Amino acid sequence: MALIECEHLSHVYMQGTPLETVALSDVSLSIDEGEVVGLIGPTGSGKSTLVQHFNGLLKPTSGSVRVAGVDLAAKGADLRQIRRHVGLLFQFPEYQLFEETVAADVAFGPRNLGLQDAEVRERVDDALELVGLDPAAYGPRSPFSLSGGEMRRVAIAGVLAMGPQVLVLDEPAAGLDPRGKEDILGQIRTLQQQRGLTVVIITHSMDEAAQMVRRLIVLDGGHVFLDGPVRAVFERSAELRSIGMDLPAVPRLMQRLKSRGLAVRTDVLTVDEARTEILRVLQWN
Ligand code: ADP
Repeated sequence: MALIECEHLSHVYMQGTPLETVALSDVSLSIDEGEVVGLIGPTGSGKSTLVQHFNGLLKPTSGSVRVAGVDLAAKGADLRQIRRHVGLLFQFPEYQLFEETVAADVAFGPRNLGLQDAEVRERVDDALELVGLDPAAYGPRSPFSLSGGEMRRVAIAGVLAMGPQVLVLDEPAAGLDPRGKEDILGQIRTLQQQRGLTVVIITHSMDEAAQMVRRLIVLDGGHVFLDGPVRAVFERSAELRSIGMDLPAVPRLMQRLKSRGLAVRTDVLTVDEARTEILRVLQWN
C-alpha cells in the first residue's frame, strides 16, 4: 500500500523575487509501507526539499503530497498527526539535543503529545533500547557526555519515541568515524527489520546506498532522474556518471572487469557476491 505519494510536485523557493529557485520540478513518486528507500543525488538536487514535503514542513508550490491517503494541503488535514507518523531527522540531529539527561531529551516529544508519565517512561525506555542504548545506564546521563555516535542514537530515539510509521533520515552516518557509521547503519537496518518501519535515507554515498536500501531514487536538478531497484540503478553507470555520481566500489570493479573482457555479471553489490561471480567465471569453484 502506498504510504507517501507525490504527484507532479514542484517547489519554488522565494517565488517572484530575484532569488527565486526551482528546487523540485514535477516530481511524481510513491513509497509503499515497509519499503526502505535511498534518496541520492548531487548537492542541490532537491533531496532535503523533497523530504520536508513528506511531513508538511514545506508546502508544494504546485502538485500534491499524500501521506497515508491524506492530502497534506487539504483543509483540515491534521499536520500534527502526520508529523507523528513521519519522523524526520535532519543532518547532525545531535545538535538539537538540549535537555539535562538523555531520558528527558527522548521524553520531550511524547510529553508534548500529552501522554501520561508512565506511558512516556515506557516509550523512552523502548526507544533507547531500539537504538541499542541501555535505558538504566544511559537515561540519567547528560547527552553531552556521550560519544558522537551515541548522541546521534539519542536523537534518533527522540523521534522513535513519537511512534512513527515512517523514519526519514538525512545523511544518518555523516561525520561519524567508520565504526560509528557501521553501528548507526546496522542499528537502522535492525529497526527496519524489527518494526517494519518505512525508511527513507538521504545519502550522498553510493556505497552506503548499496548496503542499506533495495530501491534508489536519484534526483538531479529537482527532477527524478532514476527510480528503481538498487541493482538496476547501478547498471546505468554512464547516466549516473553524467550527473557526477559514481558507482559503489564493488559494481565499479565488476564493470571494469567486464570492460577488460571478463564476462562477469555487473549487477553485483557485495564483496561476497563479487568473489563468487569472479570465481564462477574463472571456473575455479
Ligand atoms: P539537496 O538536499 O539535494 O542538497 P536542497 O533541497 O537542499 O538539495 O536544495 C535544492 C535547491 O533549493 C538548491 O538550489 C538550494 O540552493 C535551494 N534551496 C534549498 N533550501 C533553500 C531555502 N531555504 N531558500 C532558498 N533556496 C533554497
